[in-house]
Amino acid sequence: MIKNKSNLFISNNLINWYNANKRDLPWRYITDPYKIWISEIILQQTRVNQGMSYYLRFIERFPTLIELAEASEDEVLKYWQGLGYYSRARNLHKAANQVVSTYGGVFPTSHTDVLKLAGIGDYTAAAICSFAYAQPYAVVDGNVYRVLSRLFGIETPIDSSTGKKEFAHLAQDLLSIDEPGTHNQAIMEFGALYCLPSSPDCINCPLNNVCKAYKLNLVSQLPIKSQKTKVTQRFFNYLFIEINGTTFLQKRTAKDVWQNLYEFPLIETDHLLNSSELIVNEDFKSLFNDIEEVNILKTTNPMKHILSHRVIFAQFISLKISNESEVLNRFIKTPISELDQFAVSRLMELFLEQIQE
Ligand code: SF4
Repeated sequence: MIKNKSNLFISNNLINWYNANKRDLPWRYITDPYKIWISEIILQQTRVNQGMSYYLRFIERFPTLIELAEASEDEVLKYWQGLGYYSRARNLHKAANQVVSTYGGVFPTSHTDVLKLAGIGDYTAAAICSFAYAQPYAVVDGNVYRVLSRLFGIETPIDSSTGKKEFAHLAQDLLSIDEPGTHNQAIMEFGALYCLPSSPDCINCPLNNVCKAYKLNLVSQLPIKSQKTKVTQRFFNYLFIEINGTTFLQKRTAKDVWQNLYEFPLIETDHLLNSSELIVNEDFKSLFNDIEEVNILKTTNPMKHILSHRVIFAQFISLKISNESEVLNRFIKTPISELDQFAVSRLMELFLEQIQE
């Protein structure tokens, strides 16, 4: 396919800019699809600075796909602890096992097969196939949406189905046939470092003579999003129950935030409870029915944890109990000194740091 001159000019300029300005990142110089996949999944909802140490630690522990597949999901989650969006880690583990069972442990090279793996959507498949195999699939992430909407002055909302199709076509049209991997890296890096969400340096931009948003003074208005994400609030009262140096945990098995991570017994309410409300709460009473003495020692200050669609307010209530009971048998009893062996949410981690001080 012969590219139109303007697209060729844009692609060449993006690649030139990238070659002169790119950040020196460990996954930039590899063609191993496994490592590229890991880096892309880590970077999906994580900043490069934070993601780097996780990537290095993850690759050190699981240097090959086989080692990842053979590990337990609990261990993979433990290595993911603190990164959030834990479905990414669960899917990595699941997909590694898919590759072992379906492709004999060899990462597939066909775009269609890559797309069949757990947790891999259009973006990740395009990234893996273009970076590892130089196949012509264009990536579209948040940075690409911003750069394209501005360069071409597109006002279609990027979160509408029409917008998604329009931007996917445009990204594909613009893609360099000779260097698809470098082009993809270049447009994302340009969005991440130069064509910033607010006040980009348009005056010195190498693309300002073809940028429609710059010409039409629309830079600050693009890209357009139609829907505001609805954010719900949740209130978690965690019970840190202590008896003879041990405490109780449960695994979050439901399809909900932090699936398969561990946590203290939880009472979820519509606001954080004070001590007098707690002791009359039905869930609380059912937990401690058979216990002679329950002392509430202290309650942390409310903690706020922001997830993509939810804000979680939490408090940790430390309790000492005089004896164990049948009801508590449904939890995992563990020495307090061994709590750091469990994969937990960042909220739990913050509390554990407080009690270890
Ligand atoms: S001129 Fe400004 S808005 Fe247009 S591509 Fe360059 S930095 Fe982005």
